[in-house]
Amino acid sequence: MSSVKDFQYVDEQFADIQLLHYKVAGFEDLPLAKKELIYYLTEAALWGRDILFDQNGRYNLRIRRMLEVVYTESREEDRESDDYKALEIYLKRVWFSSGIHHHYGCEKFVPGFSSVFLRAALDKLPLNLLPLAEGQTLDEFCEEIFPVIFDPNIAPKRVNQAEGEDLLLTSASNYYRNVTQKEAEAFYESQKNPIDPNPVMFGMNSRLVKEDGVIKEKVWKSGGLYTEAIDKILYWLEKAVKVSENNAQQQVICKLIEFYKTGDLKTFDEYSILWVKDVASLIDFNNGFIESYGDPLGYKSSWESIVNYKDIVATRRTEIISENAQWFEDHSPVDPRFKKEQVKGVSAKVITAAILAGDLYPASAIGINLPNSNWIRSVHGSKSVTIGNLTDAYCKAAHGNGFMAEFAYSQVELELIEKYDSLTDDLHTDLHECLGHGSGKLLPSVSPDALKAYGSTIEEARADLYGLYYMADPKMVELGLLPDMDAFKSQYYTYMMNGLMTQLVRIELGNEIEEAHMRNRALIANWAFEKGKQSNIVELIRKNGKTYVKINDYGALRGLFGNLLSEIQRIKSEGDYESARVLVETYAVKIDLELHREVKSRYEKLHLAPYKGFINPKYELLKNEDGRVKDVIIQYGEGYTEQMLRYSRDYSSLPSIND
Ligand code: ZN
Repeated sequence: MSSVKDFQYVDEQFADIQLLHYKVAGFEDLPLAKKELIYYLTEAALWGRDILFDQNGRYNLRIRRMLEVVYTESREEDRESDDYKALEIYLKRVWFSSGIHHHYGCEKFVPGFSSVFLRAALDKLPLNLLPLAEGQTLDEFCEEIFPVIFDPNIAPKRVNQAEGEDLLLTSASNYYRNVTQKEAEAFYESQKNPIDPNPVMFGMNSRLVKEDGVIKEKVWKSGGLYTEAIDKILYWLEKAVKVSENNAQQQVICKLIEFYKTGDLKTFDEYSILWVKDVASLIDFNNGFIESYGDPLGYKSSWESIVNYKDIVATRRTEIISENAQWFEDHSPVDPRFKKEQVKGVSAKVITAAILAGDLYPASAIGINLPNSNWIRSVHGSKSVTIGNLTDAYCKAAHGNGFMAEFAYSQVELELIEKYDSLTDDLHTDLHECLGHGSGKLLPSVSPDALKAYGSTIEEARADLYGLYYMADPKMVELGLLPDMDAFKSQYYTYMMNGLMTQLVRIELGNEIEEAHMRNRALIANWAFEKGKQSNIVELIRKNGKTYVKINDYGALRGLFGNLLSEIQRIKSEGDYESARVLVETYAVKIDLELHREVKSRYEKLHLAPYKGFINPKYELLKNEDGRVKDVIIQYGEGYTEQMLRYSRDYSSLPSIND
């Protein structure tokens, strides 16, 4: 097992998926008590895994377990067939999606192996290894399960959103049984009290069923549905309570325990409020029923967990920027009439993920804002985080995949990007978020909506330009945010390359640019390219039949960014709709078809997977002879299959059938 020092982001790719390892920087240096707390919380996270499989579809656990047995127990000579290899891919996709439907598109996977192959493989295996229902023969099992896998008309979508159909009867997710959409809506409508200012989130922690004509909730709690998994989670949360960092955090964990024990939604709200208020603790976590994307009606929450701690260094970066917000505003190149006299930066917390689980694993969000209860958000606020070590892993992966090598002009640019890109990307995002959007002011009587449909593109361009302009300021080095005056060039290069060329890979040939962030990048890059043409500041060069961006004068490019920032601030401050329209329509919408075709064909040859996921590190608790905790060690480098099989073996909490 590799240590952090010789850490490598070893990737694995299959179907439309690429897996990345992420690094939990600083874990080794945490005090023992904090490592211990993280360990208990990661165990609580891993024990919930089976819940999501069952939530995503009632046959998922049986299918996963059956496939795992075929995969691991098949004889060596049977593993060479194309069917076996296709089954392996299918199983990897089932692990990735926590079920038989695509994690993003929700459509059912089409198996690349035949039912004849699967049946023959099952026939060779001992029956006691297979997830048969009580008293079920193998014939009966296959009759029940095979159509779910092989018949495209059965359970085609996990979540169906098509208007006009019964969204519950046509969705394969396991949140409702024998209940029509009308019945479910009526059931929850009747519980709502329209004058309650603090409504709980009805239905978020239960399956709604109709049994003997009666509609009722089967609540996910200790003693209820999923009790086997929840009791394991509780066991580890109880251990976590004893090593919590402080009183506030202890209360948070105790409330969560109470909620898992009672299933009471008022308790969940109390827990959410305590959680939002705990901002002093280093370690933070979620463990429970959180997001409702998996329910077409939006009541039911899928299970997920993340354990994390504050990235002090990265959070300090956002704090430094915010503390100096006034200096930046005073020195910006915009007309003093449009500057704020008093400006306040926004600081957001950057966190390091220690484990991902449930609906955050292996595919994960990189930013999270919770809780979801509307009234709690408006009364008590929310916590917003960026998961720094995941964005870092994405960034590192982008370097190794041939993308930069294909599109960067020469070794000089590649070396700049290699050295600085991760740092400058984060810093640009921070400047954009913490300063850019908050800078400048409207002249009195100018409406904030004056730029209408062009408003969001202009606003994003303003924030990006603020970041680009200051990225090249000596102040960055002075504040310790960048190491030297070469670093900004990496950001300038990738920004121009993206805006002029590479972002086009996401657009269909023949279409125009529509999305506001993409328009803003095209606007800035095309404008700077045009304005710098005469002095040859930025060039598009043809080499071996391919087009490349070359920047000849980085200092002059900064000057151009400053000019455009000044102009865009004027447009915004004066509400100059016509100028906004001309800028956007001239520089941000149209695409050179020939260049577009070239960029797309170069990209396709790289065979990059559109979806990414993460492999967790592995933690081990070491004890002294007297039973006291000695250390918690972290290990990287576990393979995807290895990890999934280990989880299935060591954290298999639920029975195969949960009715
Ligand atoms: Zn923005």
